[in-house]
Amino acid sequence: MSKEITARSADYSQWYNDLVLKGGLADYSAVKGCMVIKPYGFALWEAMRDVLDRKFKETGHQNAYFPLFIPKSFLSKEAAHIEGFAKECAVVTHYRLKNDPNGGGVVVDPEAKLEEELIVRPTSETIIWNTYRDWIQSYRDLPLLINQWANVVRWEMRTRLFLRTAEFLWQEGHTAHATAEEAIAETTQMLEVYANFAEEYMAVPVVRGVKTANERFAGAVDTYCIEALMQDGKALQAGTSHFLGQNFAKAFEVKFSNKENKQEYVWATSWGVSTRLIGGLIMVHSDDQGLVLPPRIAPLQVVIVPIYKGDDQKAAIDAKVNGLIADLKALGVSVKYDDSDNSRPGWKFAEYEMKGVPVRVAIGARDIENGVAEVARRDNKTKESLPLEGLGARIHQLLEEIQQNLYNKALNYRDEHITRVDTFEEFKQVLDTKAGFVSAHWDGTSETEEKIKELTKATIRCIPLNNPQEEGKCILTGKPSKERVLFARAY
Ligand code: AMP
Repeated sequence: MSKEITARSADYSQWYNDLVLKGGLADYSAVKGCMVIKPYGFALWEAMRDVLDRKFKETGHQNAYFPLFIPKSFLSKEAAHIEGFAKECAVVTHYRLKNDPNGGGVVVDPEAKLEEELIVRPTSETIIWNTYRDWIQSYRDLPLLINQWANVVRWEMRTRLFLRTAEFLWQEGHTAHATAEEAIAETTQMLEVYANFAEEYMAVPVVRGVKTANERFAGAVDTYCIEALMQDGKALQAGTSHFLGQNFAKAFEVKFSNKENKQEYVWATSWGVSTRLIGGLIMVHSDDQGLVLPPRIAPLQVVIVPIYKGDDQKAAIDAKVNGLIADLKALGVSVKYDDSDNSRPGWKFAEYEMKGVPVRVAIGARDIENGVAEVARRDNKTKESLPLEGLGARIHQLLEEIQQNLYNKALNYRDEHITRVDTFEEFKQVLDTKAGFVSAHWDGTSETEEKIKELTKATIRCIPLNNPQEEGKCILTGKPSKERVLFARAY
């Protein structure tokens, strides 16, 4: 496969696909809408998963696992939930195949029809709340703070590698509480965990907000979200945290006896982030030469490439490199010494640039004589010759600088792409030229939101948290509005 990457300016979508495929993150598969996550992509997912998992545990959650299949009747118990998910459910109807007596190969055995059809989980609220009925009896059983790492299936029609696939990997938190206040506090706490992860680890600034009724999770009372901005000015919903009220407790009869010994329905939350985060990460930082990964979650932080002729030079370089590797490892930096002689240094440079390794060190015989090495940053593509003495510590520090630089760059871009408008003309013009988030007044109705979407393809990404109250007029209907909301075209 050619390593040429389409330029962002030429075709943003193709650029993105090129990075995913040629960066070795994922491949298309034999099943439409499903992807193969390759080792490098999976290493990135593992790095994200490790940080998130630690944060979930620090906030008191435990991991558990529930079945992949959900009886159809369960999914139907919460009316809004089934209405939202029905159109994208994969359904298991039979449990056996047999040889076609008419020679048609292997066919579904009509006698092996399931009594009750099973849904491949699109999300697990129903099966989990059906289980919670047995786990929760009294206020002493609450709060119940569970997370599951799993795959889910949503039969999406228009798919895109990582960003929207029919099967995806995610985590789903499902918690149960004695009061609404506690459940809401959990919902916002987990939103903050996601926002913090996006900003501190992925170097992706996010807007924290609440979804409108139209965009709310099916079965939720409120959906909180984090929204990120991609380099083409489109938004991406990067994570959601739902306050589910007592909807699932009522659907599954989950009650607890409170301290006064009275029976009450339990309050619920659920929250999730998925492999979509990888797509967002790529779209925020990468460039026309390939991936650009933030050091804190890059599977490999530093690569060292020797440049030599003959065994003597190689031995001298090896000796210095071994010391550097030991220093870096002692500082917790992941490092690879690529001294394979299958490919030339130039080829290696291009390869690691494509893969977004944050720091590349090149060391030649002349460098050894001078006691230096060439250190190249992937983020801004600068190179400098640095003393070998103390180089491990300097690189360690450099990784932090790169992390911060990536965040600042993304933050500047994001902030420059929040435009306030007061008329529908301006609104359309910004969407068609600069794009990004458009901050505008809206009359608060789903009809107006739908109409704006129909006319411009822009949706309300969120009502930001701590949004200042401001009297204004809806850009479409001119009706009164009390606050601005953020619109954008989105992935
Ligand atoms: P939801 O359960 O709809 O709130 O989604 C939970 C998380 O999964 C959100 O962070 C979504 O961005 C993400 N997500 C939803 N659908 C998909 C999909 N088809 N592919 C990848 N991620 C998804």
